[in-house]
Amino acid sequence: MRIGAHVDQADPLAEAAARAAEAVQFFLSDPQGWKAPKPREDADRLRAAEVDLYVHAPYVINVATLNNRIRIPSRKLLLGHATAAAEIGAKGLIVHGGHVNAGDDLARGFDNWRKTFAYAADSGGFPVPVLIENTAGGENACARRLDALARLWDVLGDHEVGFCLDTCHAHAGGEELLDLVDRVKAITGRIDLVHANNSKGGFDSGQDRHDNLDGGTIDPELVVAVIRAAGAPVIVETPGGVPGQAADIAFLRERLGTGA
Ligand SMILES: [Zn+2]
Repeated sequence: MRIGAHVDQADPLAEAAARAAEAVQFFLSDPQGWKAPKPREDADRLRAAEVDLYVHAPYVINVATLNNRIRIPSRKLLLGHATAAAEIGAKGLIVHGGHVNAGDDLARGFDNWRKTFAYAADSGGFPVPVLIENTAGGENACARRLDALARLWDVLGDHEVGFCLDTCHAHAGGEELLDLVDRVKAITGRIDLVHANNSKGGFDSGQDRHDNLDGGTIDPELVVAVIRAAGAPVIVETPGGVPGQAADIAFLRERLGTGA
């Protein structure tokens, strides 16, 4: 089981080495901006790396929204990131499930997800697996609670779509971690990546505030149990820079019995 961290995008391999990480996740552009990712000078080195690479799409992306001025550029930016992620040999592109605005019909949000995959299919499909991540907040989210996730997967049906399970988002979003993996897999059939984070916010608080594994409101042994059940690679998106994340990785390796 490969364990790593979300790191700065400037030199991801150096960041991996500093944390003894076997995997890294990073952004390819400003996560709060709409700029397309630039080609990376270190693409050859990244492709050849032993470390597994994951790309996180910008937070501004919301392919579900009924707002054309957000949805249309979101589709383009997502496909642009998938192309750039493929160029560096990434294993997957993580994107949040998105939401519709208050008063808008969530069914149309799910249909916009279907159109996003259809849009990508028109140009040959996403060149890396797209992993939709569960989110913590909002009352109109496509992937906060499992009832919505089930509707999303119904709509995406035939498309190749992956899932990223974030433990902080699940807890803060109002889903119990106990047996969560079984309930998710009953819907998605797969978990491609676990974001192992503790949560500063309480259960069902809707707050997206990550904490180190031994801090926060989640029993860390529950996070370990989720990882064990998922059997997927793990990325910690926790605070504290190199020492904080290295400690979280070491904690997981010790509990999972997977010495590096
Ligand atoms: Zn996450």
